[in-house]
Amino acid sequence: MYYINMKEYDINNVFSKILQGLIPCNRVYESDFSLAFYDISPRSKIHILVIPKGTYTDFYDFQTNALPEEILDFWQSVANVTEMNNIKDTGFRLISNCGVHSNQEVPHFHVHIVGGQQLNSW
Ligand code: AMP
Repeated sequence: MYYINMKEYDINNVFSKILQGLIPCNRVYESDFSLAFYDISPRSKIHILVIPKGTYTDFYDFQTNALPEEILDFWQSVANVTEMNNIKDTGFRLISNCGVHSNQEVPHFHVHIVGGQQLNSW
């Protein structure tokens, strides 16, 4: 499958600015290819965002165009963050908004890790 990303990456999006060091973030974890930080408006006791350092607009752009090592590093980072925050055993939810119907706000691929408390049923 060859996916052509129709959306041009916007280097002025807020996560790009965090990666460029132009605005601060509350960093939780960093690896060669990924960065995790606290969401600025948490929806649960633990609400952390994990982003790749590469410029991918959404899940499909990342899954299709990122290098295998970036993809592996990203999902391992998600797992590491859940372990570091002691929510591996109590449970958590992973969310990635992608595209218009999801109301994706920031056009840089990210996964929300939400947990630290009982969540409403999906
Ligand atoms: P989404 O709707 O999936 O694109 O979610 C974007 C998320 O980014 C929201 O939960 C925002 O609260 C969060 N957010 C926006 N700006 C910042 C920031 N400067 N630092 C941390 N989180 C942010």
